[in-house]
Amino acid sequence: MEKVDITIIGAGIIGLAVSASVSKPSHAVYILEKNMSFGQEASGRNSEVIHAGIYYPKDSLKAKTCVEGNRLIYEICERDSILYKKVGKLIVASEKEELKELERLLQNGRQNGVSGLRILSARDVKDMEPNIRAPAALYSPDTGIVDSHNLMRHFFQKAKAQGADFVFQTEVRQIEKDGRGFRVSVGDADGTDFSFFTRILINCAGLNSDIIAELAGIDIKKENYILKFCKGEYFRVGANKSGMIKHLVYPVPNEKEVSLGIHATPDLGAGLRLGPDARYIERSRANYDIDGSRKEDFSRAVNRFLPFIESADLAADTAGIRAKLQGPQDGFRDFIICHEEEKGLPGLINLIGIDSPGLTCAPSIAKYVQNIVEELI
Ligand SMILES: Cc1cc2nc3c(=O)[nH]c(=O)nc-3n(C[C@H](O)[C@H](O)[C@H](O)COP(=O)(O)OP(=O)(O)OC[C@H]3O[C@@H](n4cnc5c(N)ncnc54)[C@H](O)[C@@H]3O)c2cc1C
Repeated sequence: MEKVDITIIGAGIIGLAVSASVSKPSHAVYILEKNMSFGQEASGRNSEVIHAGIYYPKDSLKAKTCVEGNRLIYEICERDSILYKKVGKLIVASEKEELKELERLLQNGRQNGVSGLRILSARDVKDMEPNIRAPAALYSPDTGIVDSHNLMRHFFQKAKAQGADFVFQTEVRQIEKDGRGFRVSVGDADGTDFSFFTRILINCAGLNSDIIAELAGIDIKKENYILKFCKGEYFRVGANKSGMIKHLVYPVPNEKEVSLGIHATPDLGAGLRLGPDARYIERSRANYDIDGSRKEDFSRAVNRFLPFIESADLAADTAGIRAKLQGPQDGFRDFIICHEEEKGLPGLINLIGIDSPGLTCAPSIAKYVQNIVEELI
């Protein structure tokens, strides 16, 4: 049976960044991806925002990897000429009662190490964004947008140059513990099955990462690893109004909401999108359809701070699905990044529940995983 040192399941931004960090000419590394190419699921269906790290609880993995990932992404983009714009972000209060929450986010962001945050008065907001209505806002200068496809390509090419092998249209179907490693069985597009031995197995399978953990022998119910699917849809603003704001504009998040609220994201092509919203869906009903009739809901949601938007300005755009550990009624859940040695599975590294801000965190998560791998190899 063929033997490799490291196998990574999934070629989204997380699997790609991890592969670029752990591959070396001296290691045999496989990246298995069920789709025809990399980045076709959550990583290719997001807002492309480089978050600053304002919202997440202090010392959480989300906070730490977001703040570091933000810095690393800008460095990579500069070094490798990947398109990005540090456009800055405004979290806008729509009512006076939300000012307290802006203050809390300011303190939280500062505790997480986010620099440059400041509260803006109504006048400051008007100077910066004349078309926004807001009595105050929290300004984050380090939030930006990135060409996520080219960022993924950067990791893909780096891993390949270091000798990693990408195997597309190949789905992991079975995993068995086998001595000091794992026997992985896969099926390819032609219906051919094969299996091989890997010493280290890194699970970056996004929406399927809980199922992969279960295949490897984890009791995912007991460990609280079961994912919930949370869909987000986007609407594009017509060209006549897309230039009316220059910054990313977010509402104050509602405590009961599981996302940051429908926001406005300028893109790198001078367009403007609204979204994503957040709706839990059944796993068995996952699809990327967009319900065009929801234009009204989207325009109503942003009208509090973007009064110039009318539903007639909106056209259905794309949708993505978040892999969430947090259910609709739950509080904060952090990323799971775990070497499963204590569960009797040394060599298995699970990455589960890598929802937002996973794109931003990717290079920092990859460093974290690299440290685990270096202890093992
Ligand atoms: C609507 C939306 C908006 C978002 N906006 C932002 C944002 O602006 N900024 C930000 O930082 N983050 C954002 N995120 C979060 C970010 O997109 C994700 O955290 C990130 O893309 C997760 O990457 P991933 O590699 O874990 O998952 P994915 O990109 O989903 O990749 C997982 C891969 O595993 C493969 N796979 C699964 N099962 C198998 C198997 N059995 N065999 C082989 N391959 C398999 C899949 O085909 C897939 O390619 C957003 C997410 C969504 C959904």
